[in-house]
Amino acid sequence: MVVVMSPDATEEDVAAVVARVEAVGGEANVSKGLTRTIIGLVGDIESFHHLNLRTLRGVADVHRISDPYKLVSRQHHPDRSTVWVGTGRQVPIGPETFTFIAGPCAVETPGQTLEAAQMAQAAGATLLRGGAFKPRTSPYAFQGLGVKGLEILAGVREATGMPVVTEVVDARDVAVVAEHADMLQVGTRNMANFGLLQAVGEAGKPVLLKRGMTATIEEWLMAAEYIARRGNLDVVLCERGIRTFEPATRNTLDISAVPVVQATSHLPVIVDPSHAAGRKDLVVPLARAAMGVGADGVIVDVHPDPESALCDGPQALLGSELRELASAVRRLPAALGRRDASERVREG
Ligand code: PEP
Ligand code: MN
Repeated sequence: MVVVMSPDATEEDVAAVVARVEAVGGEANVSKGLTRTIIGLVGDIESFHHLNLRTLRGVADVHRISDPYKLVSRQHHPDRSTVWVGTGRQVPIGPETFTFIAGPCAVETPGQTLEAAQMAQAAGATLLRGGAFKPRTSPYAFQGLGVKGLEILAGVREATGMPVVTEVVDARDVAVVAEHADMLQVGTRNMANFGLLQAVGEAGKPVLLKRGMTATIEEWLMAAEYIARRGNLDVVLCERGIRTFEPATRNTLDISAVPVVQATSHLPVIVDPSHAAGRKDLVVPLARAAMGVGADGVIVDVHPDPESALCDGPQALLGSELRELASAVRRLPAALGRRDASERVREG
């Protein structure tokens, strides 16, 4: 349920609503918009009805949220959110900026990770990606370096200043991943792993939630709701392609998911053209499409020697493709009214 305050409502009016809701064991999330304050209520709807909130001073309207997800819905929080990553709010991901995230699919060695990070940074990326725990389709494929990989990532953050996003595949590893990383990634294969979603919801770090490869947009938002219900609203959604009948690409990038999600949820949405296509020649065109459709950023694979990569070499960028992507990131989002995330960081 949502309580919409009138434009002239005072702080005391808002506090009175919150106090009433909390008195019956409910949760009240206050969001101050440009013109009015909205209070999202979570808890037993019946008990809220008995409160007669409409009669309180400063209340303009009370209505139910019709979406099945509540905390991540724009009905609950009308303005689109910005999620900040890194110590001291280093990197924004949200509607005003375009965030470029890049790095190796998997952390293999300290040298390879540092080189990939430097390539990413030189191309304009502000956030480093890299997998230490790799959720591979085959149990015989390289599974990642685990905690050793996290230590390498932390060292590379130290060397480059780039905050790190890395995947966690098991609820038992959430604490150690949160200790080393700035943002926790939940991958496509774990989008509906509700125990893991709840654990990352309690980890105190922002979460990058990839869309399940066979998940509808509603199921994806419900997964985000699991994280939000544990008190963590710092969730960034990532469209990474879905399974269709088309074998030409590894997955089919559902580009329309970006504006569909933005219309219904306040959470930022980015695109992973690397895992969508599985082919490096398609990464730049798909990244441009992501910028054009209004995505809040992209996340791409880069590798200093894709031929020798232990994971996803065919989709890793290097050389001319990376330069082409860097140039698109510098020009296109600005032409569409967004600022480069690094520019906003410099301005504070
Ligand atoms: C990844 O980003 O390394 C990854 C495994 O992606 P996805 O979960 O989208 O396959
Ligand atoms: Mn990969």
